[in-house]
Amino acid sequence: MSTEVLSLQQRGKNLESVQEMNRASVLRIMMKRSTCSRAEIARELGLKQATITNIINDFLSWGLVVETSLLSGKKGRRSIGVQISQKSFYVIGVRLRRTSYKVGLFDIYGENIVMEKYPYDKKLGPMRVVRMMRESIENMLQAHADKRIVAIGVAVPGPYFSEKGMISSMTEFPGWEDIPFQEEMAKGFSIPVIVDHDSNAGALAEWWLATNEQLSGTLVYIGAGDGIGAGILHDGAVFRGAMGIAGEIGHASINKDGPVCECGNRGCLTNYVSTPYMAQRINGALADYPGTILKRDSSFFEIVEAINKKDPLALYVFRDVMGSLSIGIINVICAYGPNEIIISDRFSLIGESIIDTLMEMVTEKAKRNYFENVTLRLGSFTKDSSFIGAAALAIDYCFGNSNIFERSAGAQA
Ligand SMILES: [Zn+2]
Repeated sequence: MSTEVLSLQQRGKNLESVQEMNRASVLRIMMKRSTCSRAEIARELGLKQATITNIINDFLSWGLVVETSLLSGKKGRRSIGVQISQKSFYVIGVRLRRTSYKVGLFDIYGENIVMEKYPYDKKLGPMRVVRMMRESIENMLQAHADKRIVAIGVAVPGPYFSEKGMISSMTEFPGWEDIPFQEEMAKGFSIPVIVDHDSNAGALAEWWLATNEQLSGTLVYIGAGDGIGAGILHDGAVFRGAMGIAGEIGHASINKDGPVCECGNRGCLTNYVSTPYMAQRINGALADYPGTILKRDSSFFEIVEAINKKDPLALYVFRDVMGSLSIGIINVICAYGPNEIIISDRFSLIGESIIDTLMEMVTEKAKRNYFENVTLRLGSFTKDSSFIGAAALAIDYCFGNSNIFERSAGAQA
């Protein structure tokens, strides 16, 4: 099969098919409910049971779905349950970071089966690193040639222009803005390669793979670590905006007189909420806190430990950073009106105290009725959520384009 480069625009075209839309809706419900009956799916979607039966028959013939033990229905009636088969299809997830990348094999429920991490030297330049990533993926595909691997998801640091398939310029990541990233990543693969911002990937991981049965609403996933960005989902679909950079809350200013950011603006949130900023603030204030357990260039893990031990310097810097993040959160609430805001990435290692502190600060600053229905919580994945998100990108794409499963099943038959 020839090289396939799938842009995000093509996704809309595929969904024009009513059958594809219905199949996608059925898969969404099955993924969210684990096991359900055909009648329940028909009822929930408002479709005829015959339509659902036809769709499920296709899924059964591809091996995507299996029938399960009998369920007790209303009035003691029993019906056969159906569920997506965990061992049916697989995806590859790749997370690119500034000094390393990870490649993993995942099942269709996003369970990570194999993970390989590759550090790289920035001096190699992006083209060389992309070639290494392609080789690592190819090796994983060959090592698992017995499995039906249907798509590759790649989560990249943002800002990412999804319309162009290109990474935006960053001082920490020189040269990457010059290459057609998506096109280069997809070279030589016969399965779709889906690239997106790591925050969008993290948001999709929460949507698809966390234990939440909700099918509608607005979810904002805030990835706070080396920098800060957000992924916005409405009814399960990523909101990207015209260029693909919607959710770049890190470059929304919270101080017109603040330092000039690499994006050209002043006082961007990312300059006040990041792990390097915390370390820098601690270094600067060490002399004022002689009793602190922190030292020059403490690691983020040491800072987290000091916060949890209520070290005065750690708490001072933590509260300063949370003060800035709480402004960012109020901006998010006002801009997107979400049901749920999730704090993830490295900051979530601080634990529940981050949520308590943010709630206290948001309550101080904003009107209660602005956010009384908003749930603020920690991310569901304690390990690298954007890596799991890379798999979620691939799974989400396949659910919207279920002919991918049909093609894969046909190829193996
Ligand atoms: Zn900026």
